Amino acid sequence: LLRQLLLKPSIIQPPTSRTVCGLPHKKYDVIVVGGGHAGTEAATAATRVGAQTLLITQKIQTIGALSCNPSLGGVGKGHLVREVDALDGICGRAGDWAGVHFSILNRSKGPAVWGLRAQLDRDRYRQFIQRELLNTPSLTVLEGAVEDLLVSDPNPDQPGQHRVTGVRIVDGSQPIYSSSVVLTTGTFLSGSLFMGQTTSPGGRIGDPPSCAGLSHTLREKIGLKTGRLRTGTPPRIFKNTVDFSLTAIHAPDKEPTPFSYLNKNVWCKPEEQLPCYLIRTTPGVERVVMESLHLNSHIQQDTKGPRYCPSIESRVLRFPGRSHQVWLEPEGMTSELLYPQGLSMTLPPDQQLRLLREIPALQRVEIQTPGYGVQYDFVCPTQLSPSLQVNRVQGLFLAGQINGTTGYEEAAAQGLWAGVNAGRTAVSLPALALSRTQSYIGVLIDDLVGLGVTEPYRMFTSRAEFRAALRPDNADLRLSVRGFEEIGCVSATRYKEAVRVRDNLTDALSALQSISMSAPKWKERLKDVNISESKSSLLSALEVLQYKGVTFEMLTSALPEPISAYLDLSQRLKIEAVYRPHCEMQQREMERIREEESLSLPQDVDYFSLPISLSQEVREVLDRVRPQTLGAATRLPGITPAAIVHLLQYVHRTR
Ligand code: FAD
Repeated sequence: LLRQLLLKPSIIQPPTSRTVCGLPHKKYDVIVVGGGHAGTEAATAATRVGAQTLLITQKIQTIGALSCNPSLGGVGKGHLVREVDALDGICGRAGDWAGVHFSILNRSKGPAVWGLRAQLDRDRYRQFIQRELLNTPSLTVLEGAVEDLLVSDPNPDQPGQHRVTGVRIVDGSQPIYSSSVVLTTGTFLSGSLFMGQTTSPGGRIGDPPSCAGLSHTLREKIGLKTGRLRTGTPPRIFKNTVDFSLTAIHAPDKEPTPFSYLNKNVWCKPEEQLPCYLIRTTPGVERVVMESLHLNSHIQQDTKGPRYCPSIESRVLRFPGRSHQVWLEPEGMTSELLYPQGLSMTLPPDQQLRLLREIPALQRVEIQTPGYGVQYDFVCPTQLSPSLQVNRVQGLFLAGQINGTTGYEEAAAQGLWAGVNAGRTAVSLPALALSRTQSYIGVLIDDLVGLGVTEPYRMFTSRAEFRAALRPDNADLRLSVRGFEEIGCVSATRYKEAVRVRDNLTDALSALQSISMSAPKWKERLKDVNISESKSSLLSALEVLQYKGVTFEMLTSALPEPISAYLDLSQRLKIEAVYRPHCEMQQREMERIREEESLSLPQDVDYFSLPISLSQEVREVLDRVRPQTLGAATRLPGITPAAIVHLLQYVHRTR
């Protein structure tokens, strides 16, 4: 079946070259290769910084396609979407336009780690992204396959240093030249698809892999180190063959929260959102997996797969005897299909059907498209700089799954940053880096270029040491202002709105700071709030807002001061108040690090047994390099600011 799906000429079209808007130039500032989540953000970001840009992708109809799950956001990932939006990227607005079920994950925890998430209507998402791209001024879109990169021979003055000068496309008689190229080929580089015992070349079902010339140039001509990773996707099933009476319904949030700072609402009405359904695997599922292992080539390979989104085969092999959760997720507002999240599999199609029917709610299920796996090459990202430029090739940037990450959000975030820098360098502006103290995008890129990957990398809030400050509610304050004033990728409209919010928040916070009363007086005004009367000093309204159960609305009714002008920011003010002490403490720690750059670090210490909180990777780097000073340690790749804080505290304690 896989072979049929892959090789039928009507499904796989031979790569051709067709422009949508004509190909007016033979030379561009930036060429972006690939119209997935990284490529679409890269192409639009490059134009926003002023670069004439060409996007070349295999099929225009798959621009913005969701290759796997029909959802956006989640814990850590929602932060990335908000940050991409704050830098004027497109995926957040697309999510608001296509979401059919919005919910905030992690709500029982603090707002710093809330995970904004939406189930998407696949067609609407794709339509939004395509419309956005085809209407972007300074962007030309070309349907075609890039066969190879044009790379200069190494510079005799700088051995091993190349320069990219453009690309060559399949069927293209002439090369197309550019100052920068962004490669975002996803799972397509030397891609192979797996189903049962059948293996075929491909980047995604229905799409051929990237041309061999690209891999050859990256590996052989430029000498980049590459690795191999894998992932997989579940079968898509017909909704009308599921017995919903045997599922648990999971309702969306009553009030959807938009991803984009520009949107007050999402497209669908709250009451029209669709539910998801929860079911669980049975011992029969495990039996089918075990009985079919010999028919399952993908699972027999050593290649590393996504740890946090494992196939059902990996789950069964790792945790025998357990029942696993499966979410049945809508594929669209009017779609007849469901996506069974948690059942990614590469068994032969008949065994896939057998496996699904072992679950009571799926006893009569029918499959529309079977699940399959993909294995692909990635480029070890330690060979990139924080701008996502390849260290040894001037003008060549990589973003997305090609850098060893997994997920749309991780791809979009890198794509935006690579596009910004490809555009800036092409128009003779310096490349920029985002720090991990400022953004999750900074954390993502710092982890990739500093530590590299051994398995598909996905974002989590636990990766960000400064998560109290890097919240989904404040990405506009962290990034939109800088995005306009320094980076140049943010529109004046968004900038003005971010400045308005910033100024109003500052005014509101200082107004709250200036109102003080004794604890008994506060208790009189806020009757049901448990404010400790043992406090002898005066309490400001800002401190009172930090109390559980106190809202900004309560303060506006309890106080005569005119603070109700800030009611539209009430949720943000509450969050700012709660996190303020923690963020101020972190700020003081960062300033202390800057002041103590020359502090000597002990040279005879065993970093592996130091009784402080350091990850194994950090211990290994410190042990290998043995930096002389705290400042030297801060500049080592893979050493996080949190590790530096712990190191600083340790040296002071033991002096
Ligand atoms: P993609 O979205 O893959 O886009 C690459 C684009 O480049 C495509 O449009 C392709 O046509 C184009 N292209 C490639 N080569 C060329 C060339 N030579 N010339 C021109 N165009 C080219 N993510 C998860 O988070 N969880 C999962 O469980 C998961 N499972 C997946 C299962 C499968 C089978 C696949 C295919 C992907 C899965 N993903 C999963 C990954 C998710 O789809 C990616 O993380 C995300 O799409 C990466 O975005 P990208 O822009 O890097 O690449």
